[in-house]
Amino acid sequence: MANDGDVSEKRPEGKCCGIIQEATTKSMERRSKRKESAQPWIVLKITIGITLGIISYASYVYIGRFCVPMLKRNSGILGGRRFGIPFLVIFCILLVMMLWAYAVIVFTSPGKAGDYVEPSPEPPPRPVPQWWDSTSDIGAGQYEYTGSNTVGGAQSNGNTTLESHAVPSDKPSEQRDDNAGDADALPPVQAAHARSEMNGDGNGAQQPSGDTSGLPMGLTRRPPMTPVLHPDHRYCFKDGFIKPPRAHHCRACGTCVLKYDHHCPWIGQCVGARNHKFFVNFLQWAAIFCMWTFATLVPGAVQEGRDSDLDAQYIVIIALSALFIFFTVALLVTHVRLILLNMITVESLSKERMTEREKAVLARQFSWYQFGAKRKLKKQWDREWGEPYTDGNLWWLGSYRENWESVMGHSKWEWFLPIGRSDTDGLNWLPNPRFDSEGRPRPRSQWPAALR
Ligand SMILES: [Zn+2]
Ligand SMILES: [Zn+2]
Repeated sequence: MANDGDVSEKRPEGKCCGIIQEATTKSMERRSKRKESAQPWIVLKITIGITLGIISYASYVYIGRFCVPMLKRNSGILGGRRFGIPFLVIFCILLVMMLWAYAVIVFTSPGKAGDYVEPSPEPPPRPVPQWWDSTSDIGAGQYEYTGSNTVGGAQSNGNTTLESHAVPSDKPSEQRDDNAGDADALPPVQAAHARSEMNGDGNGAQQPSGDTSGLPMGLTRRPPMTPVLHPDHRYCFKDGFIKPPRAHHCRACGTCVLKYDHHCPWIGQCVGARNHKFFVNFLQWAAIFCMWTFATLVPGAVQEGRDSDLDAQYIVIIALSALFIFFTVALLVTHVRLILLNMITVESLSKERMTEREKAVLARQFSWYQFGAKRKLKKQWDREWGEPYTDGNLWWLGSYRENWESVMGHSKWEWFLPIGRSDTDGLNWLPNPRFDSEGRPRPRSQWPAALR
């Protein structure tokens, strides 16, 4: 484990912005200490009780105060027995399905890296990236195309590349633990500013051969060059071991989780390699359950309001189900997309940062109405590096279907029921062959010939 001494020893000295850097380091140390310990078990799990409480209350209102009175009325209209029976039966089926999926997600561990990985010594201190140095403000050369020599030579010469792209992870990392391309953290505006400076003096970026001829200087894509598969980069200073690829440290659980997506308080644990599928199954059934409740209770309440006084508890359940429809559908859409892309949240955020940065650069270079020119340039970048979410994605398996099945299973039953399991053990992953052995993207010219 890292301690104060270690961290301060590694602090680089003598730079122009040393004071700021020191303050930043101290603040990160303080933050990392505060969040070092996992949350107590009861705090992690109490939300499961709250969730079950909400479900129980909804069931009481729907069955006891909505369906049962309907069953007592021998009427064919809404509010009578003819509607009451199917409402009750369908509600009970959906309730059972949702509780089944909930039980499976609550009791299925995402997989903890510590159960499989032996402790190992800390890697040597990482060089401080140039953007920490005020002198590199202009030279946000960080933003430029780094030339194929860097990318290709990276395997035997990791340090050279780390020099210009490393994350400042020579300390127990915080957000930067997300090793998914943080190295490209140069603010877009600063990057665009730097870009125009470079254009002005004309001795800025190297251009990739051929492709960008005739374009303004520097208008090249620079995908994140973080060596995400390099063991040094995967070291967890809190747990003291090298994490398997895609594992990240969860502060709430206080441990490294395999294919860590996020910590979900509603299930009292993380969503990761071994329960991502069940999380989606739970969201599916929870969304359907909430939709059914909402869609039947609203007309029921209207009818009830006409015949007699409206039960206020209907309103509570209608509001709750509307809230959870929004919540579960949004999460479901997000996770279906992530699974189709074979990404986890941090990996997707890294891509989004790259896209945002490119947008800023394009907005700087072109007028707002030059849509065609912007699109053409983006297409050219995609030809050069591969489309960011498919060929340019480290975990792209070749098609949306393959990505989906690798997580959700190969039978359609598994897609909708909380049964089966994902293909992966969460420890071994098949990287996209378009990337180098340390997980850095390569331009198309360096891809295996069959893939170009
Ligand atoms: Zn860890
Ligand atoms: Zn967690």
